[in-house]
Amino acid sequence: MKSRVWRVGVWLLLVLLYLLSTKYEDSVVFLDVGQGDAILIQSGTEQILVDTGPNGDVIYKLQRYMPFFDRRIEYIVLTHPHQDHLGGILEILERYEVGKILYYPVCYSNNDYEYLLQNFDNLIQIGRGDTIRLKNIEVDVLWPILERSIKECVKPYNGNVNNDSLVLEFEYLNKKFLLMGDIEREVESVLVAQDLISSNYDVLKAGHHCSKTSSSETFLEYTSPSFAVCSVGIKNSFGHPSSETLKNFSRYGVKYLLTSEQGDIQVK
Ligand SMILES: [Zn+2]
Repeated sequence: MKSRVWRVGVWLLLVLLYLLSTKYEDSVVFLDVGQGDAILIQSGTEQILVDTGPNGDVIYKLQRYMPFFDRRIEYIVLTHPHQDHLGGILEILERYEVGKILYYPVCYSNNDYEYLLQNFDNLIQIGRGDTIRLKNIEVDVLWPILERSIKECVKPYNGNVNNDSLVLEFEYLNKKFLLMGDIEREVESVLVAQDLISSNYDVLKAGHHCSKTSSSETFLEYTSPSFAVCSVGIKNSFGHPSSETLKNFSRYGVKYLLTSEQGDIQVK
């Protein structure tokens, strides 16, 4: 009996040592959250989560990629307050310690957004020129331009909240990433015309679920990404991705992957 207890004890110890020594992968994962966005940028035990998907199911995805003992997410970036981007945040806040929630203060009526603004004090407004830093990653904010003196929320750009999405750029794992949120053509044109964006990206999270309102030819030509990711749900009611956009990708030599076909897309 004694030796059995001893054997079980040794076995448990080995399992524990194995779990503690497992190196969690440094990666960028475009999580398959159905029709919505959630992108996990992970370096060791540090994370930036860009958007939280349409609902609390994002928790299962986080559990899959984050170390089991790591209960802290350093930053959550809300690109904009549409439900398909922030629907999972309240459940994440219940289950994880979140360092800071970064957002652009666009005016928009959404229950979760309003609840967040009223009940949490770890929110920080960000905009162009800001940098989000982990030990090994620096994420630059390219858009929108934030008027630092404003007290109230900011009216949507051309009345379309998609165009107030935070646009993020960073280099990690020897690749250059560009995350467009739900940005549409009007702002793509501004980014290109005013030289607010660079070029030769390796990975593009294409704007607005690869709808036809985004990823214009001018934009693709200028940014020349090698790869594009479309974050889309299977048989979604919006008809995303648009065949026109996929054709544009092919025309400009951009390979593309859809979360609806591939599931999670992990770049390591
Ligand atoms: Zn969206």
